Amino acid sequence: MAPPHESASRDGTGLFIGVDVGGTKVLAAEVAPDDSLPRIARRSTPGRRVEVGLVETALDEAVREVADGRPVAGVGLAAAGFVDAAGERVMFAPHLPWRGEDVRARLAARWETVVALDNDANCAALAECVAGAAQGASEALVVTMGTGIGGAVVLGGRVHRGTNGMAGEFGHAQVVPDGAPCECGGRGCWEQYSSGNALVRFARDRLGHEPTVLEEMCGGVPERLLGPMVTEAAEHGDLLARQAFASVGDWLGVGLANLVAAFDPEVVVVGGGVSAAGDRLLEPARSALARSLVGAAHRRVPPVLRARFGPEAGVVGAAYLARGAAGG
Ligand SMILES: [Zn+2]
Repeated sequence: MAPPHESASRDGTGLFIGVDVGGTKVLAAEVAPDDSLPRIARRSTPGRRVEVGLVETALDEAVREVADGRPVAGVGLAAAGFVDAAGERVMFAPHLPWRGEDVRARLAARWETVVALDNDANCAALAECVAGAAQGASEALVVTMGTGIGGAVVLGGRVHRGTNGMAGEFGHAQVVPDGAPCECGGRGCWEQYSSGNALVRFARDRLGHEPTVLEEMCGGVPERLLGPMVTEAAEHGDLLARQAFASVGDWLGVGLANLVAAFDPEVVVVGGGVSAAGDRLLEPARSALARSLVGAAHRRVPPVLRARFGPEAGVVGAAYLARGAAGG
């Protein structure tokens, strides 16, 4: 990318780009001052067992495609992983190869522009607090459902970062002792039952046992079955796909009940790729939350809302972060 114009962030000519780096895909977008996304680019994430350079090349390609030769005032990265408190390093990412990598400085040098970095759920929480479903809330919980599940806690209107910058990583709370093995090395983590991966696994495990259009969609090969196929099949009334959402949504609500018991938020916001399914995911979650929350009959159960920015909440929040870092 050509170095951005010297005063790009001040004269309003430079773009702010948000990038969501997830376990299966990179989503980069120009985030306009009115929060619209005029230009979007996608790449698949090569996975966690590859060279770090391959992931960063995918990022680089997506950002250049969005920039399309125009000056860039800042790039914000929303990473599906544990980011240090300074916003410099990705310490650990169960679905990506970064382990203590100095991602921010390295990409700032590569792109010759301002780069800001945070955890994807923290970015989503920032976007939803500033202009989304949690706007005006002092206490909120934001959960992102993608390949895995990420979380952020908003206390006093601000994203709570914790001592090491790692607060809100609820996805790896154990909900089933000796349950399904997780990419983090643990077993029975919440995201094994409520996430994009969980949705796909539910459907794959039942292929060949129940009549479903998913059989045809994946050509009869379970490994080819992907989350968006389950979403599409559910929209067309496929029973197995709907059961998959009912299961993942129920587990979402069960986990949320523990978090609501701990934080007593005004609102719970759900973003990430799986949130594109809307009420198909959220209705079973609301039921499970009301059923599982301690003292539910004697308290206000918080609303569970879809993120205003939906699966793009992380991208929008990452661009806000970059705008703040650039002084814009
Ligand atoms: Zn785990």
